[in-house]
Amino acid sequence: MSSLSLRELYEGFRDPRTIRALVKKIEIEADKLGRDIHIMEVCGGHTHSIVKHGLHQLMPQNIHFIHGPGCPVCVLPKERIDHAYRLAMQSDVILVTLGDMIKVPGSKGSLQDARAQGADVRYVYSPLDTLRIAKENPDKKVIFFAIGFETTTPMTAALVGHVINEKIDNIFFHINHITVPEPMKVLLDAKRSKIDAFIGPSHVSVISGAKIYKVFPEAYHTPVVVCGFEPVDILEGILMLLKQRNDNRCEVEIEYTRSVTPEGNLVAQKLIDTFFEKRNHFRWRGIGDIAQSALQLREEFAYLDAEKIYSDLLPNHQIDDHKQCICGEILMGAANPCECKLFGNACTPSSPLGSCMVSSEGACAAYYRYGNMR
Ligand code: SF4
Repeated sequence: MSSLSLRELYEGFRDPRTIRALVKKIEIEADKLGRDIHIMEVCGGHTHSIVKHGLHQLMPQNIHFIHGPGCPVCVLPKERIDHAYRLAMQSDVILVTLGDMIKVPGSKGSLQDARAQGADVRYVYSPLDTLRIAKENPDKKVIFFAIGFETTTPMTAALVGHVINEKIDNIFFHINHITVPEPMKVLLDAKRSKIDAFIGPSHVSVISGAKIYKVFPEAYHTPVVVCGFEPVDILEGILMLLKQRNDNRCEVEIEYTRSVTPEGNLVAQKLIDTFFEKRNHFRWRGIGDIAQSALQLREEFAYLDAEKIYSDLLPNHQIDDHKQCICGEILMGAANPCECKLFGNACTPSSPLGSCMVSSEGACAAYYRYGNMR
């Protein structure tokens, strides 16, 4: 056992001398590379950390970050936020979701607005808290509005398991769980794509394992390094990517070895597979329709699926973002948030007009909050 406290341990991952030494090594490798390299950090947590700690300002001129779509709240299209709003407005419904969802505006308003109009909306830290809410309110239909990547899906699956095994008849689900590799492929396939390498998401990889990225070196000749969220983790990951390029290697590597393995959490994967299957299509805000990029309850559990039960109430027409929003360009690496005319004036975290400003992990929100853009 390490004798370091958690605080001391994490101070080590932010140690200025270690950071300076890593930046020096990155400069040497970047110089050796001798050309521009565009690195996409897929996960919004990495975007947040890069901008918060000013890591983009420490990079040599030929290293460019592209901020990816890995914020599940940001990429949820407005029409699905409207679903949550409409469900919440039913007098016999308690809508339960995770905290990030409460302030996100749809075309009718946010769940916070619904609550102001009398809707019963509750947010929980763990989906399993829904069991208690349902027990305390036997006359209400409790709908869990599930969001998140592979990271949070096992918790929703565990809740589904409880509902089935304990024959609970007043909990239902609106599933918005999405998966990471499919949008990465879409972004690489895009004509305007500039992506040369990926910093792979860490929490997703704890569950799914780094194996899910094998396709990128094999079919796209694009390396992936799965990194932790601390500055030293991210700099180490950038160094590993540069070394791969300079050594003529193209692989999936794990920097975040303290939590991620190639295989991931097999128990969690089995739990997900028991209750969920892939949806044919799912629209991502800022990117568009992506095949096989989201999950739904398996057919045998359709009786728990609020999207099917309330299908008459939940319109599926597309609701677009503001015409001047350039989130699509930002996600492709073709623009950065400051190039948007709406950034910081018409579009702010309290009144977001596009996906990247919606949650603190979105690129525009991170730039707005920390203001230390290049
Ligand atoms: S600042 Fe707002 S409108 Fe502009 S790209 Fe970002 S999210 Fe879209």
